[in-house]
Amino acid sequence: MKETKILNGTKAIEEGARLILSGELVVFPTETVYGLGADAFNEKAVGDIFKAKGRPQDNPLIVHISSIDQVKDVAKDVPDAFYTIAEKFMPGPISVVLKKGDKVPYGVTAGGETVAVRMPENKVARALISASTPLAAPSANKSKHVSPTTAEHVYDDLKGEVALIIDDGPCKVGIESTVLDLTTDIPTVLRPGAVTVEMLGEVLGEVVASGKVIKIAKSPGMKYTHYAPKVKTVVAVSPQHAVEEYDKCVREGGNPILVYRNIYKDVTGDRRIIDLGVSPEDYARRIYSALREGEQIADEIIIEELHGGGIEYSVMNRVYKSAGDKLV
Ligand code: AMP
Ligand code: MG
Repeated sequence: MKETKILNGTKAIEEGARLILSGELVVFPTETVYGLGADAFNEKAVGDIFKAKGRPQDNPLIVHISSIDQVKDVAKDVPDAFYTIAEKFMPGPISVVLKKGDKVPYGVTAGGETVAVRMPENKVARALISASTPLAAPSANKSKHVSPTTAEHVYDDLKGEVALIIDDGPCKVGIESTVLDLTTDIPTVLRPGAVTVEMLGEVLGEVVASGKVIKIAKSPGMKYTHYAPKVKTVVAVSPQHAVEEYDKCVREGGNPILVYRNIYKDVTGDRRIIDLGVSPEDYARRIYSALREGEQIADEIIIEELHGGGIEYSVMNRVYKSAGDKLV
């Protein structure tokens, strides 16, 4: 067991860079969720990420860079479309799948010939990478649990497993990056996110994206259940359904919680609620905190369904998985 420090500011970046270059794991903030980082070129350190999380070996990591130029160190035969995407959306919450560069170990790509590359908007993340090296990182949670959007969430899951957590407050976006594959004939959205399918379609002309819950074998990690709270979790198709499920749970002696936006307070009444704010962006930013809080204080979580496109579609991709597709 390691002692896990939580630091912020310049000192944290200096200490983080030193630890990364000596082969240790460092948790760093990004605008999406917190990442569990290692030197992307250090096979052993990359292996330690899988051990710390309990992550299956066939679930690849994202390589984080701090300048567009660095893409050449981690990928090869980079297509023009990458630079089109970079100009519009980078730095930002999007990872682009490219041909793997020769220096990147197969441990990062789960044995595959492609690598996901992302340049985070968070300045602390970019400063850490600039002071060290490109970082291979997945979300900084235990495998299968809800992704962390605060340093405290990370500490709850990974204390004793990492030397340092760099704290930069709550994540701005709150759900994981969009994953866009540029190695297919037509660019393909493997995971929706805050850079929405609609936004990508506008820039690229044509993108492939599938139905409500995106399940595409080529994004290897997508077959695993992610984002799951430790208690029963359901999605309510309307506030009325949510209230019925809540009251049924109470009648049966349970202790439910509604994860809802406060625009529905007329319907939810004085039932227990974790408030997700007003806008879909508020919902995305707060949803993982709400799920982590819910599993501590309730034995059933009932989540509001969003029905629109854009970020609503991206966020529901996570929420349906949290609920194992259980609708009420
Ligand atoms: P996480 O950051 O924990 O969400 O994990 C990274 C996710 O990025 C994986 O689970 C995959 O879905 C996706 N990913 C990473 N590398 C690749 C790749 N080479 N091809 C397709 N998807 C990838
Ligand atoms: Mg993850």
